Parts: sequence; C-alpha cells; structure tokens
Amino acid sequence: MVTTIEIEDTITVGALAERLMIPVTKLITELMKNGVMATVNESIDFDTAQIITQELGLDIELKEGAREAVALHREKPKASAKAAPRPPVVAVMGHVDHGKTSLLDAIRGSSVAAKEAGGITQHISAYQVEHNGRPITFLDTPGHEAFAAIREHGAQLTDIVILVVAADDGVKPQTIEAIRYAKNAGVKIIVAITKIDKEGADPNRIKQQLSEQNILVEEWGGETVVQPVSAKTKEGIDQLLDMLLLVADVEDLKADIDVPARGLIIEAHVEVGRGPVATALIEAGILKPGQFVVAGATYAKVRNLETPDGKPLSQAGPSTPVTITGFKALPEFGDEFEAVENEREARNLSEVAAGDRQTTSSRGISSNELIKLINRSHDLSQLNVIVKADVQGSLASVLDSFKALDTEEVAVKVVSSGIGPITDNDLRLSKTTGARIYGFNVIAPSVIRQQAVRDRIELHLYSVIYELIDDVKAELEKLLLPQVVETDIGTLVVRGIFNTTKSSVICGGEVIKGKLSLPSLARVKRDKELLMEVELTNLKRGPTDVKEINSGEMCGLSLSTPSRLDLMIGDRLEVFTRVVQQRHL
Ligand code: GDP
Repeated sequence: MVTTIEIEDTITVGALAERLMIPVTKLITELMKNGVMATVNESIDFDTAQIITQELGLDIELKEGAREAVALHREKPKASAKAAPRPPVVAVMGHVDHGKTSLLDAIRGSSVAAKEAGGITQHISAYQVEHNGRPITFLDTPGHEAFAAIREHGAQLTDIVILVVAADDGVKPQTIEAIRYAKNAGVKIIVAITKIDKEGADPNRIKQQLSEQNILVEEWGGETVVQPVSAKTKEGIDQLLDMLLLVADVEDLKADIDVPARGLIIEAHVEVGRGPVATALIEAGILKPGQFVVAGATYAKVRNLETPDGKPLSQAGPSTPVTITGFKALPEFGDEFEAVENEREARNLSEVAAGDRQTTSSRGISSNELIKLINRSHDLSQLNVIVKADVQGSLASVLDSFKALDTEEVAVKVVSSGIGPITDNDLRLSKTTGARIYGFNVIAPSVIRQQAVRDRIELHLYSVIYELIDDVKAELEKLLLPQVVETDIGTLVVRGIFNTTKSSVICGGEVIKGKLSLPSLARVKRDKELLMEVELTNLKRGPTDVKEINSGEMCGLSLSTPSRLDLMIGDRLEVFTRVVQQRHL
C-alpha cells in the first residue's frame, strides 16, 4: 500500500521515521545504503527523503508552499538594476579563545572582551566602523559552540566571514564548524591568523591545516585571502580591513533603496523606560523614525531609530545595524521586518503572523500520530525545565542547544520559557510540573530564592551558556537507563569437587585462560550447554585466601549458587565481571 505523507522542505530522521511509522533504525540503515550518514536528530532534505521512502515502498509529498517559504528566508534579497552599492556585512567566527573578541575590539578600538562573563560573547550585536572613509558592518557573533544556532543565522546575514585561527593553536573543531556554516551559506571567507605576536606562532602550519579543509590560500594558488594579525600589537589590522573592502568590491554588493525598508531582527530585549528594544539589520530600503514596521507577530511605529551604541539616526539604509524602539511586543530573533504604509496594515499583518504561529504548533495531528506520540512519551524520559533569559537571542540559543541534546530515549521538555527575572509564577509552575528552573543572565530576587529553597525547587542561574547546557546534559544523563557492562576475565576447568550444598559448591580447578579475580561471576558450562550462572565468593592458592589467580595456576574456589549445582570434573567456568555504568550523552 502506498501512503502519501506531506513533509516540510527538511525533516529530521527521527521525525520522518515517526511520520512514516517505521523504526528509525530501518530508516537510518536505508539512508546508509544510499551513502547518507545521518543520525536521528539530523535533518535531511525533501529530495533525499523522497528517494529513500520510495525505496521503502512509501511515498511522501512536499508540503505546499514549503519550499518557497524556505527559499525566501534563506536567499539573500536580490537587487534590481537600480540598486545602489552597500557596505559589506562581516561576521567573525572561529574556535573559542582564538581571539575573535580581541580582534573586534582592535577593529572597533574599544574593550568589550573584559566585560563579558566567562570571556564569551553572549549575544549577537552589530556595529559599523569606517575604514578609508567607507563603512563596514560587523556582526559581533558569539564564539562558543552553544551559540551554533545564532551563528547559523549570523552566517546567513553576512557577506563575508572572517575566520579567526590562532597562530599558536591551529584549526580546531569550531574552526571546521565555522567553515561549514560559511560554505553552506555561500559566504566569502577571509582568514585572519591571530596572535602572530606570540611565540610558537606558525602561520604556515595553519595554511597547511586549512588546505586540509579545502580552504586554499592565495599564495598557494587558491582563492582565499589570508591576513596574519595581532590584536595586541595591532599589526595587520589595517591590512585586514583593506582586504575586506577589496573582497567586498569584487563581490559587488548592492541593494535596492527605493523599496519599503526590510531586514532582519538580530536581537531584542526589554529596557526599563524604553519597552521592547530591537536591534535589526537593514537589508534593503531606507528606514526612518515614524514609519510603521511589522516584525513577525508584532509591529512598531518606529519611535527611536539609533545606532546600536545609541546615536540617533534620521534614516538608515542597507547594511546598517539599527536599534528600534516602539514595538508593541518583543519581536523574535530571526524575524524579518518590513516597513508598511500605515498602522492598520501593520496590525493586520502582525495578527496574521500571530495566527500562523499558533496554528503551526497545534495543527493536523492524526489519531494515528497521536497514538504514536502517546506511546512515545511512555518510553521517552523527559526532563522538564523552565527557562528565563535576558534577551530573545540568548533564549533562542539555549532552546536550540536543548534540542541538540535530545535523543530517542531522553529529551528536554520546555514547560515554559520567557524573558526576564525568575518570578513567583515560575515557582508555581515548577511545583506543579516538577520542572527545574534555569535562568540565563537574569536574576532571582532573594524572596524567590528563599521560597525555592523552602519548596525544594531546583533553581539555577548562569551567566555562561555552556555551563547551563552542561548542567542540563548531566541531568538528562541521569534519566538514561544505566548500562550493564560484562567483561570476560578468564576460564577455569574443574578438576575436583569437594563439597556441594543447596546454595554453594567448593571445588578446585586450573585456570586455562586469562585470570580469576574477586568479585566476579561465572557461567558454568558442560560442553556447550550453559548450566547456571554463579558467583565466586572465595579464591584459594593452596590454603591461602587470595584475590587473584593467573592462567596456568591451580586453585580452590567457593561458589554461591542460586540452586543446587551438581558440578562434574571437566566442567568449565567462564568467569566475568558485571558492572552497572551511568551512560553519557
Ligand atoms: P574569543 O573567545 O575568540 O573571543 O577570544 P578572546 O578575544 O577572548 O581571546 C582569548 C585570549 O587570547 C585572551 O586572553 C586574549 O587576551 C588573547 N589574545 C587574543 N588576541 C591576541 C593576540 O593577537 N595576541 C596575543 N598575545 N593574545 C591575544
């Protein structure tokens, strides 16, 4: 029978197996046969899914409109013939501690690095610098892998990625990850080899390592520009900016300006006295104070239009990062915004978007799928959590990082999430759901903390995201069923039987393989037949109690047996240890 199921443009292997109602292992095997190595949480695209499902005798269809919607979101806006040149948008990526923040500081001439908790940039922000009289827009993208989510968006917003590689450390996992993001997003890469002032700095080794990742530098006949720099001595910084502008010129970056302003929300938070404050990057058009803009499910009459460091702007064009006040509610990180004619249009459009958001989460579960879901929740252990964060961007990162932790067996269930301090409401919700409360860069007033202690509520506050994720991961691991590990240690042949009771045997024998030690268990075998599993309770070399007997030695041993064991000379004991281990994700 051919079933037709509609899916989105991409789908995780786990979700697809669920939709097709086949075991996920079967799907993974089929994928492997076709050369696709994907784990349960990884996404495959529609075309791959279709090929695989057809081989399984099933059929899927692309959900109407799915591809167009996705394509719209991913592709950079195309400029018309009338388009004007625009500044490049640049993101700095690379392994943690390789000097991203220091490099941005050196470029900006300020010092942000020292202020950041744990030395890690916590959320995306953006600013412009001028070099040779031309503006360059920098997205201050966070460095730690927990921010993969934001960074992925970051790469899609950008024209050029400065890939930071420390001269004294070389290409590392997050370097490779950054290369992958940049390549997937079709973004130009410029390599900055940082910390060249340090002893042991070896730019050539880095170039070699980069070539292993298919990044071939210009001087070796490739296309990638490489600039050695030091944030400490400022050596190479000017040249790096020269290179950026050069690459930007080659890319011929343009955008329309005579269209309604549009762009992307890259950060949003609430400020006392100012209400929702959103940082946005303009992609096309000119935005002015007083205009109406729609962003996702909310809208604003732009009250203040400012640079991210607070300078008022009378207008802002493509590639300009701006902060906007006047939103009715917090827009979300990654929301597209667009200027519209008037308030009525703004309200209508945002209401439609709000409606869409609701229906996508509650729509279309068939009774079969529901039964599957219910069954699944039985064998899946969930960790209930409540998450509060300071800004949308970091909340999105935390939630995305949680998703990455999910497996077939255990998953993080977000009972509630939001922006702002821990409140009484969070405590109440925690009491009814047993959820652990996690705060990221937010406070919990002391009355709340005291109440949490009294009610034995797990309330944890963090200012470094990976510490939060590590804690959640450790809690999830506790939910995994422990693993029983058996290790064979030796074999003994029975040479004599001295005493047998209902629950014990004292015998003697020769160790013919490995060694015997205590504590241990043994499978008693006669030829191929398994007679019983017993426990070794005592080992003797001659009259002396010992802990170990080696191969080739004779020994005496006491066995504890679950029932009477009529041992015979020539029977074998295959001795093994059995331990229960906590598993890890
Ligand atoms: P990030 O995690 O990639 O943002 O790295 P940071 O900018 O926080 O830098 C990590 C460490 O490397 C800090 O201790 C910096 O002082 C140091 N560092 C960064 N750039 C340089 C450099 O050019 N020269 C030297 N000597 N140290 C640097």
